Amino acid sequence: MLVVAEKEIGGLMTPEAAFEAIEAVFAAMDAGKAYNFPVVREAIGHEDALYGFKGGFDASALTLGLKAGGYWPNNQKRDLINHQSTIFLFDADTGRVAAAVGGNLLTALRTAAASAVSIKYLAPKGARVLGMIGAGHQSAFQMRAAARVHAFERVIGWNPHPEMLTRLAETAAELGLPFEAVDLDRLGAEADVIVSITSSFSPLLMNEHVRGETHIAAMGTDTKGKQELDPALVARAKIYTDEVAQAVSIGECQHAVAQGLVEAAAITRLGAAVNGTDPGRDGAEITLFDGTGVGLQDLAVAAKVVQLAQAKGIAQTVEI
Ligand code: NAD
Repeated sequence: MLVVAEKEIGGLMTPEAAFEAIEAVFAAMDAGKAYNFPVVREAIGHEDALYGFKGGFDASALTLGLKAGGYWPNNQKRDLINHQSTIFLFDADTGRVAAAVGGNLLTALRTAAASAVSIKYLAPKGARVLGMIGAGHQSAFQMRAAARVHAFERVIGWNPHPEMLTRLAETAAELGLPFEAVDLDRLGAEADVIVSITSSFSPLLMNEHVRGETHIAAMGTDTKGKQELDPALVARAKIYTDEVAQAVSIGECQHAVAQGLVEAAAITRLGAAVNGTDPGRDGAEITLFDGTGVGLQDLAVAAKVVQLAQAKGIAQTVEI
């Protein structure tokens, strides 16, 4: 099997390549050529960690495998990021393990690419202001990916822990965009596109905060019980997701569905907008992308990395 170490990923994978891989796999999912397996995600009762597996099979690209890993909230004390994962690819013809790829940077890149795909297809015409809710590790990747697909003029941001907002200010500066820290009322009123990426377990952005044509990429909620948005706001939106089964069980939609405000049948796969079988905003005031994070995203970026590593001769071969 081939091994691509975590430390090599930064030199191999670009946000552009991640975007292309994610846009293509969302299209394949909507066309019925690729499917995700049910997610396993468990609170293991040690270090407050959430651990699990996300897998799938893309018959068009012959990508088969899984990502194993999760979220360790106390890792900062060990100088490690909170997300730790490894992606395993298998030969779809034989079942033999084909590759192990470091999944930490790839998770950030594929998650940012997913919201960027949603922004490309769903942002209101002429959107100028990007609103960021969340200032953790993922937030910088999210802002960079959003700025790559749309020419925003300024960034505004809010975080439950204001001391972390320097990350947003520094990332905006790196992108040459002015940044201002605001309250949620201003954020909802002024932002044309909102990306939320926190570990919240209760609603932060309320229905009354959001005014005017807005696209919201809700990226933080990927586990039962997590929540960033008011269910009434979710119910007001035209809703897209990566995978409907995940949106209603572990995504932002879980709460609106449990309260009977939204039906699973009303949720569209983002791939339909990519494939052109769905018209996109189509006059909707609010669009929402419920980005739950699917195994096929991980496999798509890992397969690309393996290709690049082989081309550069830096994939290690290991007998198993
Ligand atoms: P991080 O630990 O670096 O930052 C955490 C963020 O959440 C910060 O903004 C922090 O202020 C906020 N936060 C922490 N505890 C909170 C609480 N109790 N209530 C409200 N906000 C709180 O984490 P990160 O790596 O930036 O990841 C952020 C979130 O994104 C996590 O929940 C993670 O599971 C999720 N995530 C989702 C996907 C996906 O595909 N959808 C992929 C990766 C990460």
